[in-house]
Amino acid sequence: MAWSSFATGLNPGGHGIFDFLHRDTSDYSIDFSIAEQLPPETISLLGMEIPTSDGALVNRRQGQPFWLKAEHEGLRVAAMRVPVTYPVDPITHMLAGMGVPDLLGTQGTYTLIANHRIAAAESGGRVLMVRTSPDGSVQTELEGPNSPSSGKPMTVPVHIRADGDGVRLKLDGQEIALKPQQWSEWLTVRFRFLGLGSVDGMVRARLVSGFPRMRLYLTPIHVDPRSPALPISAPAHDAEHLAETIGVFHTLGMPEETWSMNQDHLDEAAWLDSVKTTLAEGEAMLKHRLAANDSDIIIETFVQPDRVSHMFWRGRDTGHPLHAESSDLARSAIDWIYGEADRIVGETRAALAPEDRLILLSDHGFSDYRRSAQVNRWLLEQGFLTLKPGARESGPLFAEVDWTQTRAYAMGLNGIYVNQVGREAQGIVKAEDKAALLADIAARITTCQDPEHQQQVVLRASLATDAYQGASSGDAPDLIVGFNRGYRASWQTSLGGVPAVLVEDNLQKWSGDHCVAPELVPGVLLTSFPLTQPVDGIGAVGALILSEAKRPSP
Ligand SMILES: [Zn+2]
Repeated sequence: MAWSSFATGLNPGGHGIFDFLHRDTSDYSIDFSIAEQLPPETISLLGMEIPTSDGALVNRRQGQPFWLKAEHEGLRVAAMRVPVTYPVDPITHMLAGMGVPDLLGTQGTYTLIANHRIAAAESGGRVLMVRTSPDGSVQTELEGPNSPSSGKPMTVPVHIRADGDGVRLKLDGQEIALKPQQWSEWLTVRFRFLGLGSVDGMVRARLVSGFPRMRLYLTPIHVDPRSPALPISAPAHDAEHLAETIGVFHTLGMPEETWSMNQDHLDEAAWLDSVKTTLAEGEAMLKHRLAANDSDIIIETFVQPDRVSHMFWRGRDTGHPLHAESSDLARSAIDWIYGEADRIVGETRAALAPEDRLILLSDHGFSDYRRSAQVNRWLLEQGFLTLKPGARESGPLFAEVDWTQTRAYAMGLNGIYVNQVGREAQGIVKAEDKAALLADIAARITTCQDPEHQQQVVLRASLATDAYQGASSGDAPDLIVGFNRGYRASWQTSLGGVPAVLVEDNLQKWSGDHCVAPELVPGVLLTSFPLTQPVDGIGAVGALILSEAKRPSP
């Protein structure tokens, strides 16, 4: 939402991105907010649906990004890895950031191969338990995207056998030696479909443990920038050129494997190692763009301080339930990433020409995430939400919610929605009753106390009609929940779940967050030049960049 405001200068009511997730009012399903695959147009003929056009992939963000304005005015822009830029805009150089899926079409699905029983992934991964063959090796297949011809998943063979304390891994014909606790280089995987062609992807492998209890981790299947199957760069060949110059790089929108670490399928050192790699890639991209000197505006997004803060906040928050048991690595990781960020800023400043100007901004700060609030449980306890007869709780996607008796529901990280007549498929709240209902919820939720810690869970609740202005407010939550420091909506809440307990300890490694009342987590703006007027939030930075880029050199 903040990066969309950065791009377009609009508030969320204008650009239409309010959360990572949005709901479909026709069936209460939940979908990813950034990109959308429109179905192909079809005509019905003799009882068959005949496609007349390919489906289109669209960025759901509305409004015009400032880099398009800049290009129309004759400036050349390089925008690298900015969130919500997928599919890309046609500018001098663009590499899409958060929003780019893996080859399965997900935001990142890893694979863990083991020859013994382990817990399945709750989210973001798949576990393959494979018996060791009589010859001592493990053989399986890595599933890729569905074949356009058969509709079934295409696969590549995987073969793993012991090699000292490590393994020899054969994946899609390539064979490498892998020691325990070591990341492989990129391995290409080519998924072929009948007679027509192939889709190229790539993964990195990490041997979590060798035989006899072998565990091999494979990253999500990234689009290969050398032959991209998806529109990840502008011009289309830019990704390939970049890979030739700086080496092959992660292309997935959120390549930091936070779910793997949350679920103990990847340890902290492995995770931080992979963050070091993406950091080095961002640095190389920025240095390459600076050295190429063919852009008037260069934007490089470094997400690593955000991701490291999410995963290791427990190491510095002495009140976090996992603080006492956090490792030395967890305790030092945030200082490390800020040290690295500082080094990169210093080196960038040193590389600037006298007429260059540097703007450094963040989209938010950070806060403690000690306790998870189940907002749908609260709505249930307060009588705004009702479950089907006999149900005491509900899994995700509102599975057990009785819509005929539900006036409000929560979804995403900060949103409460009214079940409104004429908008939601089974809406029961009339438009004229909506304001009073929202006022009632807002007043009550700010008095919600954490039963165990006697603390206020929600600092404030804002009406969308006050917070957002614009034509794209259709997906907006009706009420925005501003959590107090220490609290966040639970993961279950974000997916429309109604668990049994109202507030509970956050026992996940994802231990810091920023989806709280905004005054608790202000972003920063630093400039290498004096500002002539105040900058009113992240939505005003694009205009600042444009005016600075057009200003004659001193
Ligand atoms: Zn974040």
